[in-house]
Amino acid sequence: MDHRKMAALHVMEKLEQAGYQAYLVGGCVRDECLGKIPQDYDVTTDARPEQVMEIFEKVVPTGIRHGTVMVVEQKVPVEVTTFRTDGKYSNHRQPEKVEFVQSLKEDLKRRDFTMNAMAKDRNGRIIDYFGGRKDLDEGIIRTVGDPSERFQEDALRMLRAVRFANQFRFVLDPATEEGICRHRDKGGCLSVERVTAELNKMFDADTVSHGFRLLFQTRLIHFLPPFCRWDLPDEAVKAMPQIDPIKNRTVRWAYLLCLCGTRPDQLAERLRQLKLSKKENKEISACFSLASRWKGPDDSMSREDWCRILLEEGPEAVANAANLARLTSPDGQWIPSDSQLAEWWNGLKIHQARELKVSGRDFIRHCGWEKGPWIGKVLQVLLEQVALGHLPNEKEILLKEGCKIGALHQK
Ligand code: ATP
Ligand code: MG
Repeated sequence: MDHRKMAALHVMEKLEQAGYQAYLVGGCVRDECLGKIPQDYDVTTDARPEQVMEIFEKVVPTGIRHGTVMVVEQKVPVEVTTFRTDGKYSNHRQPEKVEFVQSLKEDLKRRDFTMNAMAKDRNGRIIDYFGGRKDLDEGIIRTVGDPSERFQEDALRMLRAVRFANQFRFVLDPATEEGICRHRDKGGCLSVERVTAELNKMFDADTVSHGFRLLFQTRLIHFLPPFCRWDLPDEAVKAMPQIDPIKNRTVRWAYLLCLCGTRPDQLAERLRQLKLSKKENKEISACFSLASRWKGPDDSMSREDWCRILLEEGPEAVANAANLARLTSPDGQWIPSDSQLAEWWNGLKIHQARELKVSGRDFIRHCGWEKGPWIGKVLQVLLEQVALGHLPNEKEILLKEGCKIGALHQK
């Protein structure tokens, strides 16, 4: 058995021995029903946080205000949350206060979707008050209770509905979908960070076209920050299923930016508004910008042109951009395949300037010019020439050629 599950069962056993109820709950119960391995095993109990802290030796009060503590059992962290109901919600985001309760049913009732509102006891018996099992079997995302109420309480649930529908390739129950359409404007209350975190989770799924379709079909995306500020195309956008075999997050983000009608001159500002990490920004930007530089069959590029781009941008960025361009160019057939690009890359004599038999310092000494941007230019040209086999990688020859090139950049 999975050591994380063993640890969770151990925690449940100790809680029961102390006279409390304890169940596995939420995502782990759902995933086990689907025959998938859960990411983590969460425990719910009627013991209050301070009572949980008394029972276990190692406890970290991670979210004590919401009744959550982290018990470390057999060196494995297990999240334990007290049965609770959520009080009145403010601003469609968070309950003002939570209340601890004694009933499992009350706790399950506050959860978002029927498939996430099941519990499992230590013997593997499933407790399912809201028809979660049936909805799982039929592939339906359905809110627990009235969708209008549930989405008004917490607008993030609308985006979670889309994320789960995408992840499991489920449909939205018609009333749930209608609830999203009716309350999509509340999406404006969410923070950019929560929206992008949810989208990033969506991009980790095997396929994404279903999620993209739902985002645009329900028009939810028109109301989510920062997209609500972007003047999105008015007609319903149709995502292409060809995005699905591309598992890469960077390409998926860049593709979403394309679906949002982003022009190259808008890219930097839109990326800034998405508040992604620096690394993500850089990669998405390279992918989008490169792909939009390649216009179409008319500027047909030779093998050498592609090799130059590979040397300048690196094989990963070019492969990402090629994937994006194949999706977004009307006739993407002229773009070399991944295997063609890999073959050209592998066929190059060298791949990086530091493999050259000369360095920037050699040039400063040999040519007698001040240090400056000319060195980078010289090295890049020599890298291309040597990589393509137009010059041998020999110090004397490279110094001579490099000084000629440097002289051009001195003016
Ligand atoms: P994943 O495998 O992606 O983590 P999960 O179902 O475990 O899916 P979490 O965000 O970890 O999702 O939440 C754990 C559980 O808490 C959910 O299964 C659900 O029961 C409940 N939950 C989470 N977010 C909400 C919400 N916004 N509203 C109501 N219940 C929620
Ligand atoms: Mg989870």
